[in-house]
Amino acid sequence: MNDDEFRIARKRMVDEQIAARGVLDPHLLAVMGSVPRHLFVPTDDLAWAYSDGPLPIGHGQTISQPYIVALMTELLQVEPADRILEVGTGSGYQAAVLGQVAAQVHTVEVIPELAAQASRILADLGYANVHVHTGDGSLGWPEAAPYEGILVAAAAPSAPKPLLDQLADGGRLVIPVGGHGFQHLEVWRRAGQEFKRRVDLAVAFVPLRGEYGWK
Ligand code: SAM
Repeated sequence: MNDDEFRIARKRMVDEQIAARGVLDPHLLAVMGSVPRHLFVPTDDLAWAYSDGPLPIGHGQTISQPYIVALMTELLQVEPADRILEVGTGSGYQAAVLGQVAAQVHTVEVIPELAAQASRILADLGYANVHVHTGDGSLGWPEAAPYEGILVAAAAPSAPKPLLDQLADGGRLVIPVGGHGFQHLEVWRRAGQEFKRRVDLAVAFVPLRGEYGWK
C-alpha cells in the first residue's frame, strides 16, 4: 500500500468505525485521520493497520482497536494545555493521538523493548511533547505529576490509589476495571479530595501488571 491508500483507509476508519459509533469531536476525528497508525504496527500486519480491531505487537501485547483509542481519548476530555499520563505505551499509537490533543504526554511501559521501540517511532515522527518511560505504570509517574488526565490502557483489578493521587484538581482518570476476559471502562473525576466515578462501556484489555495490577 502507498501513502494515498493508507490515507484513504484512515478516512474510512474514521467514518465507519469511529464517527459512526458516536465519537463526534471534530478535532479528535481530524487527529484520528492524521496519525499514521500503520507505522505503529508490525510490518507483517500493514494490510490490517486500519481494520476494526486490536492487533498483536509482540511480547503478548496489542495495539488497541482504533475506536477504543478514540473513545478513551474523548472520555478523558483533554484540553490543549493539559498534561496527560498514559499507562501502557505498547506501540506508542495512543500516546501519539494524545500528543496531538494535549500539551505534554508522559507514557509508561513495563516491557523495556516495547518502550524503546515506541520511543524510536514517536521521535522519528517528531512527537517532541511525548515522553516515554520504562517502569511500573500502576504506580503512575510521580516525577511529572499532577496530571489533568490519566489513561490506563490495560485492565486493573481496581483504580490504583497512586493514579488517583496524581490527578490534578478537576483531573480525569479513564481505566478498564475488571478480571480477565472483559472489563468496564471507569471514568473518575477529582474535585479537591473527592473522587466521583461512573461506569462506561464494556471492553477487553490485556491485564495491568505491577504493584497495583494483577499478580
Ligand atoms: N496504548 C497502547 C497502544 O496504543 O499501542 C496499547 C497498550 S496494550 C493494550 C497494554 C500495554 O500495557 C502493554 O504494552 C503492556 O506491556 C502494558 N502494561 C501492562 N502493565 C503495565 C504496567 N504496570 N506499567 C506499564 N505498562 C504496563
